[in-house]
Amino acid sequence: MTQITIALTKGRILKETLPLLAAAGIEPLEDISKSRKLTFETSVDDVRLLILRGSDVPTYVKYGAADIGVAGKDTLMESGAEELYEPLDLNIAHCRLMTAAIKGVPTRPGRIKVATKYVNIARKYYAAQGRQVDLIKLYGAMELAPIMDLADEIVDIVDTGNTLKANGLEPREFICDISSRLIVNKASMKMKHESIQKIIDAIEAALAVSA
Ligand code: AMP
Repeated sequence: MTQITIALTKGRILKETLPLLAAAGIEPLEDISKSRKLTFETSVDDVRLLILRGSDVPTYVKYGAADIGVAGKDTLMESGAEELYEPLDLNIAHCRLMTAAIKGVPTRPGRIKVATKYVNIARKYYAAQGRQVDLIKLYGAMELAPIMDLADEIVDIVDTGNTLKANGLEPREFICDISSRLIVNKASMKMKHESIQKIIDAIEAALAVSA
C-alpha cells in the first residue's frame, strides 16, 4: 500500500478545497474545523491530510514530506516553486494581486516604498515596469502600512476590495489573477505514479462536474 500525504492550506482555501476532495472521494474522517489536530486520516485508507499555513505547503511538497499540496498561486509565485509539478488549476479561492495606496493620493514620482508579504513578486513586478522601489517585508495587516506612513503603496491580495476600502485605501494596478493549484512533488510523481495519477484524475473529474 502506497501512503499518500496531501498538504492543504488552512483557512479560506481549505474551506473550498474540502468539497472538491469530497467530490473526488477523499473525505477526512473527522471534522477538521472542530479539531486542533494537524493530520487527518481520510475515507481512503492510504491517503492522509496535513493542515498547514499556506507558505509552508510548497516547502513540505518540495522536500517530499508531502506528496501533493494545495496552495494559492500567490504563495507558489512568491516561493519560486519551480521544482514542483503544478498539474491542476483548482479554480477555487479566486482573487487578484494588486497594488494599493491611500484613496485619492497620487503616486509620488521617483523611488517609492512598498510594503508587502510578497516581496519577490513585487520586486519582479516593479522591475518589469522599470520602477525603483524600496521593499518592506510585512507578515500581515499590509493595509496599515500606508496609513502609518511606513510605505507609499502595498502589494496585496484583493477579493471584494472591502478590506482596502475599510482602511481608506484603493486598488491601483492589477498584477495578476490568483487561484489555488494542485502541486505534486517530482520524485513522488515518479515513485508513486499510479496512486498520485489516480488522485489527480479524480480531482480533475470533480472539477469538470463543478465547472
Ligand atoms: P477582500 O476584503 O474581500 O478584498 O479580501 C481581502 C483580504 O482577504 C486579503 O487581504 C487577504 O488576506 C484575504 N483573501 C481574500 N481572498 C483570498 C484568497 N483567495 N487567498 C488568500 N487570502 C485571501
